Amino acid sequence: MSSKIAMIGAGFVGAAASYAIALSGITSDLVLIDVLKEKAMGEALDIGHTLQFIKDMKIRSGDMDEISDADIIVITAGTARKPGETRLDLLKRNVGILRNSIIPEMKKHYKDSIILVVANPVDILAYFTQKDMGLPTGKVISSGTNLDTMRLVYRLSEVMGVSTKSITAYILGEHGESAFAAWSSANVAGRKLSGELKEFGVTFDDASKDQIMVDVKNGGASIIKNKGATYYGIGVSIVAICRGILFDEKVVLPVGTMMDGLYGVTDVNVSMPSVIGRRGVEKVVDIGLSDAEAALFRKSADVLKQSIKEVLEA
Ligand code: NAD
Repeated sequence: MSSKIAMIGAGFVGAAASYAIALSGITSDLVLIDVLKEKAMGEALDIGHTLQFIKDMKIRSGDMDEISDADIIVITAGTARKPGETRLDLLKRNVGILRNSIIPEMKKHYKDSIILVVANPVDILAYFTQKDMGLPTGKVISSGTNLDTMRLVYRLSEVMGVSTKSITAYILGEHGESAFAAWSSANVAGRKLSGELKEFGVTFDDASKDQIMVDVKNGGASIIKNKGATYYGIGVSIVAICRGILFDEKVVLPVGTMMDGLYGVTDVNVSMPSVIGRRGVEKVVDIGLSDAEAALFRKSADVLKQSIKEVLEA
């Protein structure tokens, strides 16, 4: 079955995601689009040279008109914070790139693709993408807290000495400071992560859970400090979401979509476990947050709404 992914942005994240997509063999056509045309061309050719030993596919660079027949458009184009810049400066600049450059170009060629937003601040860029493109909920997805969740599961796997595959635990809310772990539903082989788990030699109390969250947040920060950018983890996160769409998997992943009243949250793109299939986010799953977690979810949504207001008023 043929399918096409258009990757807008061929920087660290766009290139790593493209490499991961090629290795995973999930699509037959991948096109990299960047304002730096040579960069997109170079990355496409470098990845293209792997084809002899992986599944054959088309991989190339191209222009924005390539999005018109893409099954999925992935937006990784953005800029990082510059020295001396405030959070709001960066927010305004990346929202500006999206609304003044990427969306007008997409509008010229867009037909029916699912749009996966990855560039930061991801929840806010996804919000503006959906509003400006005038698309229904579920068609615009933010990669949201899927990466944060991968980091949590990785850390829990280290702490418990058990496979990442046997752990279900989500980080939800904003992809950012106000993200929280939904501990009340976290489990290993169906066993809640609470109190002493003798087989795994750990006790989950408030202090140990807080420490795990600190480790998870420091994990991302230490990658930036040690090598300047994070891209392999998000690359595979993008593969997981795209595979869910292209193969109509109905896989549940914590990604962001526009909320419609869950826990009282409306009109903001924020992460909750969501069923992903051919139509994008097909359902948002209410995993039964505790009252304290529901309050954190609402707080996280408020943080995002405040940022959107600041951008609109700036
Ligand atoms: P990068 O600077 O290496 O790459 C960004 C690319 O976007 C550049 O090649 C640039 O030329 C391109 N670009 C800029 N404006 C463009 C436009 N109008 N059209 C097409 N291309 C354009 O940055 P990176 O490290 O690849 O990070 C990209 C984004 O991904 C950042 O916003 C970063 O914060 C974000 N990110 C998100 C997650 C997540 O979990 N959501 C994780 C890691 C990084």
